[in-house]
Amino acid sequence: MMKFECLKCGKKYPHDGKMFKCNCGGLFKIPEKPLQYKTDLELGEVKTPLLKKELLGHEIFYKLDYYHPSGSFKDRGARLMLGKLKNAGIDEIVEDSSGNAGAAVAAYSAAAGIDCNIFLPEATSSAKISQIQSTGAIIHKISGDREATSRAVKKAARNKYYASHIYNPLFFAGVATIAKELIEDLKKIDEIILPVGNGSLLLGIWHGLKEILAKDNLPRLIAVQAEPVFPIWEKFHSKSRKSNTYLNNLAEGIAIKEPARINEIINAIKESKGDVILVNQTEIKNSLKQLWKQGIYIEPTSAAAPAGAINHLKDKNTSFGNIVIILTGSGLKYN
Ligand SMILES: [Zn+2]
Repeated sequence: MMKFECLKCGKKYPHDGKMFKCNCGGLFKIPEKPLQYKTDLELGEVKTPLLKKELLGHEIFYKLDYYHPSGSFKDRGARLMLGKLKNAGIDEIVEDSSGNAGAAVAAYSAAAGIDCNIFLPEATSSAKISQIQSTGAIIHKISGDREATSRAVKKAARNKYYASHIYNPLFFAGVATIAKELIEDLKKIDEIILPVGNGSLLLGIWHGLKEILAKDNLPRLIAVQAEPVFPIWEKFHSKSRKSNTYLNNLAEGIAIKEPARINEIINAIKESKGDVILVNQTEIKNSLKQLWKQGIYIEPTSAAAPAGAINHLKDKNTSFGNIVIILTGSGLKYN
């Protein structure tokens, strides 16, 4: 029987229970050997491509991690989580994400034959909801802000399983599979440049890398945050900074004001001897256009990583070597 373990007090809980965090308030630990978790739930997954390109005169590799059934890397996490829940006999779940995580959880719930409820703020645009709705998932629109939605889903989670991409360790364990693919393709990686919001990609990849590689061979994690929402950048660098506000944040997928796992995220970046880079909206827009003009059709949030890579290479706070930039979501989703 698989158990979830509290990060704070060590208390253990069944993975198929109603608790999504410990009674003491602590979150559940991400497994140390995530790659040992397997599932037979399938939607035709492939190993995602690694594309060699040039950026500011340096050779870099784009990991095209939007080559997934629902069009984003979140499918890795949703696949393992819903696969394990299916095996445990869970027949209905709740989740709160209007973006890629919601689409991934809805798709794999459909594949698993599990009823899916997605909680969203009332103001969420209908374009973002249509992919989720196509699976037969039930949408619950909650009036008020994101916090109101968060309260509503936690209330619903008293009776139904909360299949959260933030709290559930299985989601992170599924994301860890990206580490295995990267090591198969490159053997030695010096730096991984990736966007960070709630940290599902960063923490998943880090736990996967640590399972495969010896400590001396671990790459540096270069995490990218975007103005106007950058709490991880502020905490990592121990400084605060004023930002202009924007009506349309291109990187809304990583605009998380209070990431639940912020301490774990910062510890992972420090352990990797990495860094947190900040980008602004103009830099994201420029990177987005540059990638689109190369035929690489990503969603706007995904352009934060290559924009951060440009700032990082210009800073020369890098030993170069093999640099991987992860592209997380498909542009086709947002038409
Ligand atoms: Zn606890």
